[in-house]
This record gives sequence, structure tokens and C-alpha cells, in this order.
Amino acid sequence: MFWLKAVVFKGPGHVEVKHVDMPTLGPRDILLKVKAVGICGSDLHTYRTGLYAFPSQIMGHEFCGEIVNFGSEVGGIRVGQRATGFSVAYCGQCFWCQHKQFRLCPHLFENYTGYGRPGAMAEYVKIENAVVGENLFIVPPELSDEEAAMAEPLGTALYAIARTKPTAGDVAVVIGAGMIGNFIVQGVKKIPVKQIIVTEVSAAKIQWALDAGADIAINPREVPDLLSAVQSVTGIGLHHFGTGAMADVVYDTAGAEETFNDALGFVRAGGKVALVGLPESPSTVDVSQIIFKDVRIVGVLGSIIPRGLEYLARGWVKTSNLVTARFSLSEADNAFRTMMDAPQGMRGMLLPDEN
Ligand SMILES: [Zn+2]
Ligand SMILES: [Zn+2]
Repeated sequence: MFWLKAVVFKGPGHVEVKHVDMPTLGPRDILLKVKAVGICGSDLHTYRTGLYAFPSQIMGHEFCGEIVNFGSEVGGIRVGQRATGFSVAYCGQCFWCQHKQFRLCPHLFENYTGYGRPGAMAEYVKIENAVVGENLFIVPPELSDEEAAMAEPLGTALYAIARTKPTAGDVAVVIGAGMIGNFIVQGVKKIPVKQIIVTEVSAAKIQWALDAGADIAINPREVPDLLSAVQSVTGIGLHHFGTGAMADVVYDTAGAEETFNDALGFVRAGGKVALVGLPESPSTVDVSQIIFKDVRIVGVLGSIIPRGLEYLARGWVKTSNLVTARFSLSEADNAFRTMMDAPQGMRGMLLPDEN
């Protein structure tokens, strides 16, 4: 076979399933036959706005594939194993590469599967410079293909938790209970923190969050004042020049101006805010609250994929019911339109075409 079917981003609101050339393998590359690939919130951002992708990009970064071929310099794997991962090519020259902070190399995304490099919404995907344990992760046999395709977003939730280190006495607020928010709920439950509050506008996602272990869910559209509703749970948090709520840690998975400001209201003085959701435009925030509350704000970029696989294999998080729609690869155009129009839906999966 000299070509493969792939989902190509053409521009906002437009993806096309096309035949593209089969990738050629270098000595350090591997080829995976894709078994399942998720349509991520960031893929939908791209579809909506054109952000993060150039026209002709093959999309898809949350996947599970079966190893079908690999170059002579790749060790520690065999054909038939399942794996997930990403292509890497750090520049090796910049400030961050010099300081071994490779995930911050400004050239990383130029070389990342589904961003600069061809993604996994295709029959086959190539992983460049594959090193087991670094950018290639073998999928444990007990996981289904779809579960393994969720290790990347789960790893993002676990990275958000690693960045904020909540402890057993903490009250956590999770803003937005989509896939990542749901996984954060499950991750902080595992610690376990003292109390988990979720704010979410979708009734279906609220139910998923409660099933996942949230103690209290608040729908902002059903309360007269969201901050008051959170205060009624956490207590009122005083700070030097005003009042907010008393959350020890807040995760904003929605990434909107409003939710960033909500987060600054919910967090107690001396607490932490993690920004996980990607905004589509710049936000105006009340910076004085950050100062008066002495808040620590952290950005969350990336995923601890091996930890995601471990949590899945140990049964520490539940993924059942999170895949709400399945489409064959050739139906990708329909899949994107359906997921855009389905705010109640959680994760859409693209599966290989029936032969
Ligand atoms: Zn993603
Ligand atoms: Zn670099």
C-alpha cells in the first residue's frame, strides 16, 4: 500500500478524508496501525477557529495503535504490541533544551504528532525518534483500544494535579466537567481531597461528575449568583480587601474569561489556581485579586501519558460511558460536526473503517 486514508484539516469548519502518501520510516521511527483516536476539545478548537493547525495538517493526538513496522535503531518493542505516544524533535539549541525542559522547547509543537507532524486520524501514524518510556508507551494488555486512546487527556488531568499537589485537607473546585474536568475529579478523589465541588452548565456532564466522585455540583445557570453558591459550600473567604470563597485549589478546564475570573473568586487567599482549558481569545482579569490573595497560578501544558496508562491499568479512573459517540474514519467530517453540536457529549472516537 502506498497511500493511506487520513483526516486533513482544510480550514475552520472544514476537514476532509483524503488519501495521502504512506510515511517512510527512518531508523528511529515506528509505524502504528491506528485502532482508536479521540476527537479532543483542542481538535474542536482547531475545527472552530483554525487555531493550532495549518491547512493540510493531519489531525489527532489521542490514540492507540498497533506496531506494524519499525526502524533498525528502535529497541524494546515488537510488532503486534499496542502503543501510544508522539513524535519528538527538540531543537537542542534553545534556552529550554539547554536546561533539559524539553516540553517548553518552542519548536516542540512543530514536531508533535497531530500538530506539526501528521496525526493519528489516519489509517497509520508514524512516531519519529521513538524511545520507549519517553515518547512511545506500550499499552498494557488489559486496556481496550479506546481506553488507551484516553491516556493522553487523562495524563493532562494528572499533570494539572501534579502542578498543584492537593492534599487530604483540601477543598477542590473543578470548573467545567468535560473529559479533562471529569478526570481531574477522579484524580483528586484518589488522593483523596476533603471535598470536590464542580461547576458545569451541562446537566449530563454534572451527572458524570457526580458519578466520578464529585461531592457537590453547581450549575451556574441555575443559581442567582455563582460565587455565593460556592461560598455556601466552602464558607466565605476573607482577604485583605474583600471576600471570595475558600477553595484551596481551583482547576479551570473551561478556559474562558468568565471562568478565569470565577476561579479567582473561588480560591482562598494563599490557594492555587490551575489553568487547563485553552482560551480562544485573550482574557481580562482582575489582577488585584491575584495580588491581594497571594494566589499561585499555574499553566498546565502537556500530559503525563505513562501515568495515565498506569491509572487506567490499575482501575483508578473509570472511563466507561465517557465515549459518547463513535464514527468510522471516513465519517470524520460528520464526526466533527456532530461533536461541535453536541455539548452534552463527552468524547467522540474515530475507529478504523470496516474492511
Ligand atoms: Zn487532546
Ligand atoms: Zn529547543
